Amino acid sequence: MKRPGKIVCVGRNYVEHARELGNEVPTEPLIFLKPPSSVIPDGAWIERPPQSTQVEHEGEIGVLIGKPLRRVSEQEALSGIAGIVAVNDVTARDLQRKDSQWTRAKGFDTFCPVGNVHEGPVDFNALELITKVNGEVRQRAHGSDMVFKIPMLLSFISHIMTLEPGDLVATGTPSGIGALRAGDTVEVTITGISRVRNPVRDVVQ
Ligand code: MG
Repeated sequence: MKRPGKIVCVGRNYVEHARELGNEVPTEPLIFLKPPSSVIPDGAWIERPPQSTQVEHEGEIGVLIGKPLRRVSEQEALSGIAGIVAVNDVTARDLQRKDSQWTRAKGFDTFCPVGNVHEGPVDFNALELITKVNGEVRQRAHGSDMVFKIPMLLSFISHIMTLEPGDLVATGTPSGIGALRAGDTVEVTITGISRVRNPVRDVVQ
């Protein structure tokens, strides 16, 4: 996949995940950005930075944008989808708690593993998202569990900023987030659609 122009992420989009962090489910989508420089492909190292002692995985369903979407309806948004990808919104949880803006916690190099692009029609509600660490299932959910569904998210974002071809939207993580340690391997799979698997190490100084 080409490096995205921007990565728009959605926070607290699964009820159980909002609760596990002690948060309310938002009444409208909560969005933030990750820098394109955080993207790595399947197989590349996730590097734990020295500034954090709590780096965690967040397996997510990603939507790759194929044509410009500006102030579109939910229906119109569908035609702008180029494909679905597995995404890991790697997060320095301790820094996220410390900062009111999440740019630092979400923005380190290597903090956005992205899998292969699945083109063609999919049933969003049926998408099955599974995150494993060292082969053990940590997170499992379906598209139908999202608070705000994909067409709504794309329409909502498009009324704030134009979504452009190559942009990536990460639609939020379900419950079960947890630590990544040096030596771990983390794998985010959208069953039958896309997968991204990455080993973890401490930053090589
Ligand atoms: Mg996330």
